[in-house]
Amino acid sequence: MKRLPTFIFAISMIVTAGLIPALQAGGQTPPPLAAQVIKPGLYWVEGGAGANTGFWIGKDAVVVIDAKMTPDAAREMLAKIKELTPNPVQSIVLTHSDGDHVNGLTGFPQGLKIVSQETCKTELEAAFTDPALRAYLPTVTFKDRMDLLLPGGSIRLLHFGSAHTSGDAIVLFPAEKVAFIGDLAFIGRDPLIHKSKGGTSFGLTATLKSILALEADTFIPGHGKPLAKSDIEGLLKSVEDKQAQVKDMVARGKSLDEVKKAFGIEEETAQPGRRRWPSLVEVIYLDLTEKK
Ligand SMILES: [Zn+2]
Repeated sequence: MKRLPTFIFAISMIVTAGLIPALQAGGQTPPPLAAQVIKPGLYWVEGGAGANTGFWIGKDAVVVIDAKMTPDAAREMLAKIKELTPNPVQSIVLTHSDGDHVNGLTGFPQGLKIVSQETCKTELEAAFTDPALRAYLPTVTFKDRMDLLLPGGSIRLLHFGSAHTSGDAIVLFPAEKVAFIGDLAFIGRDPLIHKSKGGTSFGLTATLKSILALEADTFIPGHGKPLAKSDIEGLLKSVEDKQAQVKDMVARGKSLDEVKKAFGIEEETAQPGRRRWPSLVEVIYLDLTEKK
């Protein structure tokens, strides 16, 4: 891995962990929040503290996808929505439990419908130790699939098994052929898989295949620009290639250190107060060798 990507990766890991909420890459203020139209009535939001988010404007209500990382960023998003519609935000759908996607919940009014996959709620129950955040635990959960039928359209929530975490939700807008996929796709660097939340690389590849089978042409990731099917196909292939290489090395009796060395992965040690995220290669190795 070259110097610059390593640096960006390290920073994004810290941001993902929500450890320096007000800062993003380079320690600068995050870029200004901007809402971009994808299809009529459907927007994705980049900038501001935290991951990408989105919102859909229905006939009488607005549904938000993910909640930013800080209440200020969430309020900034609410202000953007207000510029576009008088309709109130009725629900928030969460793609998964990471802090940069959910810690802004306290910036929303209380009493909204908050929807997540059921394991995501379990993860949030453990993560939301702050009493203010506990008022924003999901109020509606689903296991594999749920349709939200709303005046003006419908939203399909899907869970294809553990991948980035154990509670990932894909938020599909069937009429618009757009899917918000949270952190199931990273482009330009290896995907991040939270083993501590039950994520697995083989679950990720299975989920990416299910995403590719959706009737959708635009995929909004948690970080970076909207993706096309070809981007997801490229990502799937790169992860599968790594899985095949690691599998071969495991079959030849290679140790984790040997595998990491073969991929040129330097041993990252966690700095005090920071969590160490295992590399994709390490996750694959553990997926293949750990007793289930
Ligand atoms: Zn995440």
